[in-house]
Amino acid sequence: MYPVMLGLRDRPVLVVGGGEVALRKIEGLLSQGARLTVIAPQAAPGLEELAGRGAVELLRRGHRAGDVKGFTLVFAATDDPEVNARVSAEAEAAGIWVNVADVPELCTFYLPARVERGSLQLAVASEGGAPFAVRRLRQVLERRFGPEWSEWIDAAARFRQAVRRSGLPPAEAERRFDAFFAASVDVEKLRARVPRADETAALLEPRGEGKASRAARGRSGNSAVAFLPRAARAGSAPRTRPGLVSLVGAGPGDPGLLTVRARQRLLAAQAVVYDRLAAAALPCDLPEAVELHCVGKEVGHHSVPQEEINALLVRLALAGKRTVRLKGGDPFVFGRGAEEAEALRRVGVPYEVLPGVTAGLGATACAGIPVTHRGESVRVTLVTAHECRKGEGPQVRWDLLAQDRHATLVGYMGVSALPEVVEKLVAAGMPASTPAALIAQGTSAGQRTVVSTVGGLHAAGIAAGIRPPAIFVIGPTVRHAPALDWFARRPLSAERLGLFAPAGELGPALDRAGAELLEMPRPLRPAARVVIAAAPLTGWILRSPRDVEALEEEGALDGEKGELPVYCLEPSAARRARELGWRQVVEIPAQAGPEAVVTAIADRERSAALDTVRWS
Ligand code: SAH
Repeated sequence: MYPVMLGLRDRPVLVVGGGEVALRKIEGLLSQGARLTVIAPQAAPGLEELAGRGAVELLRRGHRAGDVKGFTLVFAATDDPEVNARVSAEAEAAGIWVNVADVPELCTFYLPARVERGSLQLAVASEGGAPFAVRRLRQVLERRFGPEWSEWIDAAARFRQAVRRSGLPPAEAERRFDAFFAASVDVEKLRARVPRADETAALLEPRGEGKASRAARGRSGNSAVAFLPRAARAGSAPRTRPGLVSLVGAGPGDPGLLTVRARQRLLAAQAVVYDRLAAAALPCDLPEAVELHCVGKEVGHHSVPQEEINALLVRLALAGKRTVRLKGGDPFVFGRGAEEAEALRRVGVPYEVLPGVTAGLGATACAGIPVTHRGESVRVTLVTAHECRKGEGPQVRWDLLAQDRHATLVGYMGVSALPEVVEKLVAAGMPASTPAALIAQGTSAGQRTVVSTVGGLHAAGIAAGIRPPAIFVIGPTVRHAPALDWFARRPLSAERLGLFAPAGELGPALDRAGAELLEMPRPLRPAARVVIAAAPLTGWILRSPRDVEALEEEGALDGEKGELPVYCLEPSAARRARELGWRQVVEIPAQAGPEAVVTAIADRERSAALDTVRWS
């Protein structure tokens, strides 16, 4: 085996086959600029879509002798071994490199497992004896090499250009490269960072040069300037147009509450910067090439300081990247979205704000609490309880809010401050008997609601083990919650289920029954892994032994083989799952249909709930 990286831009490539396996190859090839012809009597929906917008030429027919002529590379990925063999033989006879999916004996080239970080690509391959090992290694690399490597490799390329332009002798240039590497890569942790402009300038300086000569050179054209993002160069017109930054509200948790435009922007983005609370709303089919930056942000635990988030957004935009800043709920409701908008405005980066469903409206709707109601509540106040702790800056006038009986008060970031809030409200005259509720993880499969009174809410919350993110709701309309609790009444409202795409008719059935369904592309893309990790899954639905194998290979069940139920829709899938040592295998008869799947999962959920009651 001899590894090469092929430049495929505008090269004619043939793919025979139109199913999901072929589609994955096609997407990878398109991302590298290949000119694709696809031969397939039937095409997967994704392929139809590509053909519809002219991204590939689709010939709707079977393979014919002579088809491979004129192509640089040929792929066979049909489910008919005979067709695959014919394509392979024909290509080989014509001296064209050919790959047959999953049949190494018919291949004249193999595809490595890849980790892509912008223009940096890592490929892992073996002689084909242990594909599972290669895939796992790829996963390790996928985790170890963060998204920052993409920016870093671009910075390295710019640095090389600058060094070249400076005309340094080769040995001296090498020394600068060493210095760049040492300054920007932590070899132990495999982390990289883009050096600041002043650091790069220092790296490019002639050795031993003092401040005075540096200043003089600055006037006459400093080679270091070449390294800076073009748009940041003083005095020169920006040549890379800054990318649009979309400040997007992801809603409170249920991925179904993402707006249509938000999804469009995400799928068209080159970089996504997301909060932990927004992670569950990332589309699982987000292309692998999209840079993902998690900037944490949980209540009381801002893992990346706001200034750094602002700087990251500016940097991505100035590098010309279409960027989505995905935030929990609505960007302008206790989300510091305006600070980000302001930072972008200051440097002239175009931005837009896409509103989202804020927790105070989403979680209440799903808990059966109308925030306004004729004759009961004529006002809604969204309030942060967090400020109450700090005692600095503008303060919430709890005394005024306590006076308003025909209003709903929704408190964000308020679980830990609740006792103080209650004390202030009651001291200012609010009856302790006013209806009140806590809603945690509203709108998601993990939603929990506790209904009580203002006086009893804190204790009720502790007794029920309510944890952030949660809001409190105070006001007369809270009393409707038990009657209007449509959300928890749906049979699968507590289920967060994984399934390999496409979900087919199971999708709508599970959705109607209230399950949160994660439709996963195969192989699992980085965004899909983020979504899986965003909240606990309650099970996987597997339709065939291939699905079972896929889950095993992806390592998505690791550590949960004993606990997490897998619902197998074919006896052969259940058999394979048991062979692999999974312990919660639930078999659902093949012919049962979507409604029966819903019933079987609901029955299991009920009996699991009974078990907990019995044993606790
Ligand atoms: N911009 C967000 C709020 C961010 S502040 C929005 O518009 O919703 C974070 C607070 O929002 C949390 O402390 C919690 O009070 C509330 N919150 C966010 N998601 C929630 C959810 N799913 N259920 C209940 N409260 C939530």
